[in-house]
Amino acid sequence: MNAAFEHDTRYWHWVDAERIQCDVCPRACKLRPGQRGMCFVRGHEGGSIKLLTYGRSSGFCVDPIEKKPLNHFLPGSSVLSFGTAGCNLACKFCQNWSISKSREVDTLADRASPLELARAARHLECASVAFTYNDPVVFMEYAIDVAQACRELGIRSVAVTAGYMCREPRTEFYRHMDAANVDLKGFTERFYYKICGGELQPVLETLEYLRHETQVWFEITTLLIPGENDSDAEIDRLSAWVMERLGPDVPLHFTAFHPDWKMTDKPRTPAATLTRAREIARRNGLHFVYTGNVHDADGGSTYCPACSERVIERDWYELGDWRLTPRGACTACGAQLPGVFDGKPGSWGRNRRPVRLASV
Ligand code: SF4
Repeated sequence: MNAAFEHDTRYWHWVDAERIQCDVCPRACKLRPGQRGMCFVRGHEGGSIKLLTYGRSSGFCVDPIEKKPLNHFLPGSSVLSFGTAGCNLACKFCQNWSISKSREVDTLADRASPLELARAARHLECASVAFTYNDPVVFMEYAIDVAQACRELGIRSVAVTAGYMCREPRTEFYRHMDAANVDLKGFTERFYYKICGGELQPVLETLEYLRHETQVWFEITTLLIPGENDSDAEIDRLSAWVMERLGPDVPLHFTAFHPDWKMTDKPRTPAATLTRAREIARRNGLHFVYTGNVHDADGGSTYCPACSERVIERDWYELGDWRLTPRGACTACGAQLPGVFDGKPGSWGRNRRPVRLASV
């Protein structure tokens, strides 16, 4: 790895004369000189833990914000998405595994300083930048510097993350974020341990932290995998927990799995499973439950919880009928919808546009 892309980090401590522990995520990797962590992008170099991929990216794309997915954050706007390499979980169903599991620097073909990135987002007329494709937890120093540069230009920052992070770095990280989509991958420790190589409890702590101790707008995504995390009982427990600990207004997205990476033996998620999950979560009192990765105009649309009017018609990432005021109040009854609304909806549509930063 090129020393030009090394960056100092703060969250680590010596375990003994030889080993340093990285304190960014609950994996707590203990590393000898020259060793890399499980995420492969943080390593013990020169007597401290360094981030080894600062300023490098696996690619840039302009996406609809609905693709993150975020349905209550500047709807219809475009977001400049990018990722780096590496991840601190090992989900067998990973749909970005060529990036998240990459140990090759050649996937990091694009390079960009935080200022270049923020200027590119402004030039491309994106309302926000998203740290996505792989989990920004593992490249938090780069993500924070990008977010700071963006904030100075009036561009917001979005983290797409599994929320598997320790308390202290989490506090610093989310101080710089405006929105997040957090994966709640299942609702059993068995699923997290067996399928993702992690733990559920730290993720629940991140969700409670976001809800009760920050102003960050966040939504939750659960990818339903047939036979693994899609039973009525598990969906019931998950959505009841969201209702009780986070309240009715945190949007929950149930999305469809397709066979990938180390999980090609499972079938795609039937649309009926997503609809069933949505019904269970709504019965538990959640106001905004969505289905994703399928055409489902009902499950993709937003309804006013006060008068049941459909206030945002949505099919996949495309917006249709819009019945909200510029600040996000229902035009039928005046109830305020939770989220971040800023004027008219954007018109980016479902386009996905890869970009080379050098050409922007
Ligand atoms: S961030 Fe990477 S190096 Fe640090 S504890 Fe997590 S997996 Fe290990």
